[in-house]
Formats: sequence, C-alpha cells, structure tokens
Amino acid sequence: MVFRCDLCRIEVPDADHTKGKRHQALLNARERFEISQNSSIYISRIKPEHDENILKDYFSRFGQIKNCFIDKEKHTYAIVEYENIDSANKCLEHSDEHKLNDGSRLKVKQRNHHEFKSKRMLISEQEFLNINKEKEIEQHAIMVQKLNNQLTIDEQAETIVEQEKITDELFKMREEFFKELEIMFIKYFPEAKLCLTGSMANSLATNLSDMDIVLILNDTYIEAQHLSSSNNSGESMNIDENSCSNDIDMNQNK
Ligand SMILES: [Zn+2]
Repeated sequence: MVFRCDLCRIEVPDADHTKGKRHQALLNARERFEISQNSSIYISRIKPEHDENILKDYFSRFGQIKNCFIDKEKHTYAIVEYENIDSANKCLEHSDEHKLNDGSRLKVKQRNHHEFKSKRMLISEQEFLNINKEKEIEQHAIMVQKLNNQLTIDEQAETIVEQEKITDELFKMREEFFKELEIMFIKYFPEAKLCLTGSMANSLATNLSDMDIVLILNDTYIEAQHLSSSNNSGESMNIDENSCSNDIDMNQNK
C-alpha cells in the first residue's frame, strides 16, 4: 500500500513518513506561511506620493508591523504584514476604507490567500542570502585578523591553505562515496575502472570543490538494452565513447 503525501508531493510506503524531518519542516513552514498570510492586509488606491513610511505610520495604530511593501511596478497597492493576526483583524474590522492625513482614502481588505506549495522553499531566498552573507563577512573578518598577526607571506599562505583546504571529515565521506560507486560499477562492468581526477586527486580540493570522476570502460562491451518502462519509447542505450565523466556535486553548504 502506498500513501500520497500532498505536502511533500511524494508517494510514501507508510504513514510513518509524517514523523520524518522533511515532512515536519514543511509542516512548520506551511504554518508560518499561513500565519504570515493571515497577519497581512491588502491595501489599494495607493498614490504615487505614498511611501512605506507613510503607510507604516498610519497602519501601525492597529498593531506592530513586521513587513510593508508597495508594488514596484505600478505603485497602486501595498501589503502590510503585522506581527500577529489580531492586529490585521483589528484593522479590517475598523473599516474597509482608511483616510490618511493627506485626505486620500485607501481601500483595505484581507490579503488573497495562496496555497502553500512545498517548492516555495523553507526559507525565502533573501533570508538564505542574508544568512550566508553574514557568515561570509564574519569569516572574512576572522581571516583578516589572523593574517594581520602573521609576519611573513609564507605564514599567511599557509593559513589560507589551512582555512580553505577540504576537511578530513568531508574528504573521508567523499572517499567512501567513491568506493561505493566503484563497487557498484565493477559489479556490472568488471573490466571497467573508476578514477578520481581533478582537485580530489591532486589534493588541491577545498570544501567547495566538486568531485570529478572518470569511468574508463576498457574492453567492456555494453549490449544495447531495451528499456521497457512506460514513459520510454524503447530506445536502446548507446554508449559509444570509451569513457565518460560526470560531475558529482557534493557541496554541503550550497
Ligand atoms: Zn510529507
């Protein structure tokens, strides 16, 4: 029996799936997404002279504002997100028309609700960039300080190598992955050979390096196979190169 998890958009073997980390993370993300929508109001009839400060100034009387943005294209509507749902409700209950000090009348309604889609990332792209940027700036500052404390260029070069070179842990992980891959290939193509090439082979790898592997088929004869899966037209698998290489991306932090 197979269950379908609509949240993760996958088929799963049993209901235990809902205890999984990814499913739980998506549940939390969906909850945050829904709270954020329910805490937001949609404001229309925005005038060109209205900016975020004017809107914040007026709408903060209903509660603390978390976010405010005006549509950049036409500057006709805005969305104000409150820290909590009560504030948004208070604003909506007050009136659907709000008069600003300059005499203009803004229309306010509940923000349109969009369906939560798991592809919509767990954190926003901007959040992701900010987290990484802060980390990068911090690491950069530590590095500069370290380098300033050293007297010779040799020492400095060594420090940079120490900092950038691949960690033992990650190197071991990659080695193990390579061994497993090799075992898998040899099982089917006993004549073939798998070789590491590039930075993983010449010890210049950093934590951000990829892993280049060459498959040397030697005298391996590969019979054309007819794949019978339904979404395949039955093409034969053709390997006419003597070797093929593939980029395997094992970046952990990217
Ligand atoms: Zn799920």
